[in-house]
Amino acid sequence: MKQKKKVIIIGAGLAGMSAGSYLQMNGFRTEIFESYRMSGGLCASWKRKDFNIDGCIHFMEGVSPNEVFYPFWNNIIDMKSIDFVFFESHSVVDDSNGNRIHFYSDVDKLEEEFLSKAPEDKKQIKEFIGLIRKLSRMRLPLNKPFEVMTIADKLKVAYTMFPYLRTMRKYLNITNLEFASRLKNPALKYAIETAFVGHQPLFYSIMPLVWRNKKDTAYPKGGAALISGMMEQSYIESGGKIHFKSRVKRIITNGNSTRGIELENGDVHECDIVVNAADGRTAVYDLLGGKFKDRNIIERYEGETFKTIDKTLYVAIGLNRDFSDVPRKIYFHIDKPIYIDKLTTMNYLEVTHYCDDPHSAAEGKSLLALMPEAKDWEYWHELRQSNKPEYRKEKKRIADAVIEALEQKFGNIKDFIEMVDVATPATYIRYTNNWTGGQISWKATKKTFGKPTTWEIKGLKDFYMTGQWAGTSGGLVNVVMMGNHLTQIICKNEGVTFTDHVKSI
Ligand SMILES: Cc1cc2nc3c(=O)[nH]c(=O)nc-3n(C[C@H](O)[C@H](O)[C@H](O)COP(=O)(O)OP(=O)(O)OC[C@H]3O[C@@H](n4cnc5c(N)ncnc54)[C@H](O)[C@@H]3O)c2cc1C
Repeated sequence: MKQKKKVIIIGAGLAGMSAGSYLQMNGFRTEIFESYRMSGGLCASWKRKDFNIDGCIHFMEGVSPNEVFYPFWNNIIDMKSIDFVFFESHSVVDDSNGNRIHFYSDVDKLEEEFLSKAPEDKKQIKEFIGLIRKLSRMRLPLNKPFEVMTIADKLKVAYTMFPYLRTMRKYLNITNLEFASRLKNPALKYAIETAFVGHQPLFYSIMPLVWRNKKDTAYPKGGAALISGMMEQSYIESGGKIHFKSRVKRIITNGNSTRGIELENGDVHECDIVVNAADGRTAVYDLLGGKFKDRNIIERYEGETFKTIDKTLYVAIGLNRDFSDVPRKIYFHIDKPIYIDKLTTMNYLEVTHYCDDPHSAAEGKSLLALMPEAKDWEYWHELRQSNKPEYRKEKKRIADAVIEALEQKFGNIKDFIEMVDVATPATYIRYTNNWTGGQISWKATKKTFGKPTTWEIKGLKDFYMTGQWAGTSGGLVNVVMMGNHLTQIICKNEGVTFTDHVKSI
């Protein structure tokens, strides 16, 4: 590269900061424009009274140095400096008859648990456990994106993946609900139906169990604040710059290439390349005015293949009580269903406590978080805009119902509450501009499997996209990896030899 090219990145979520860091490593001059006053995007935390609410991380993937995801993090942040908590059990599910199923992280313990609780389902259990064992041997070939692979690379991928293709195909064609319907034992059936997303192919839901079995999943003490903070610091130290409170209003184009961006306050910033690491729909239809669309974009935003994930609320409760004797994450049946919105009524709740993280609450106190579904995101968005008192009343109604359910289940809740905070899809839209206010982007379905990442739009030069909307799904490790992959693509297009380390000068 003769002269260092200037890249403007829209959005300082993990995707934007990862892309910025990898581009800096490769000699590009980058600046990020972020609409909020802080970095992190959805990887956010906030303080309420004495409690630090981790509004994101339940589990972080890519924490084992022996596994393929680890370098994507470790090239940017010092993973060894993070104090990770590994959980013996990912979650437990309690049904209405007092039965409890543990989803142990270790596959041998999980098998023992399932067989002892549901011996009549031995055949299905062996199939399920066998699948985890088989996929635990798979090393996903993720070091390069498809777009930069040579023929030799592609042959190597085919060779690596060949032993798993039939298995993948089979379990992409079975949804969790279909698998659950084959089980005879009501407690195990309920556990699979409740802890796994019903419509999702079993293949997608089993992968987190595979990563847990490989000790590749944990919780970082310090949570979302720690991870976003480390990503920001590393990016700044690499020479990058973040402009906060700088919402991009327009991507400036000249003919068929990008020239820069215009902010909401009218400021114009020129550059050689624009990378969108913020909401994808907004970039295509608002920032670019819908003038540039190719087949992949139309399939994603105008077709039937891609559907956005079901939205949730985020109810955080601060207790003046130690909750650490309770499993870290419990799904439990509730006798009195909770009406959330016209598309959602909850018959169960899922509660996570953060007692393993001293940053979350003072000693002896506990932070709990629940994520009841809220499928009618437009209702929450419109209610907040049109009638704030009613919006607040609705949030309180749901918080009260959740507290009542917790009281019934655990006892000693109501008298110990010090803090209640409810976020809705409207909250996520407001703070991160994600169009449907969901926690991640697309539903992972059989139809979206293997669909190309929308890194570029045909017909528009010097414009790229990354992050959860450009890929087929979200998740922290995924968007961090995308920063690396995007940089490899840009390097190829610009004739730069890619590195994933800081170049010595
Ligand atoms: C409640 C919750 C729980 C989750 N749990 C987990 C978990 O346990 N593990 C896991 O791996 N993942 C989890 N996720 C998902 C994960 O947080 C996201 O997939 C990931 O953070 C998305 O990163 P991103 O950078 O692609 O997008 P975002 O985080 O949305 O970042 C986009 C950024 O762009 C900014 N922006 C938007 N529009 C503009 C504009 N016009 N101009 C300037 N800036 C703009 C936004 O403010 C934001 O900072 C969770 C998410 C939520 C909300």
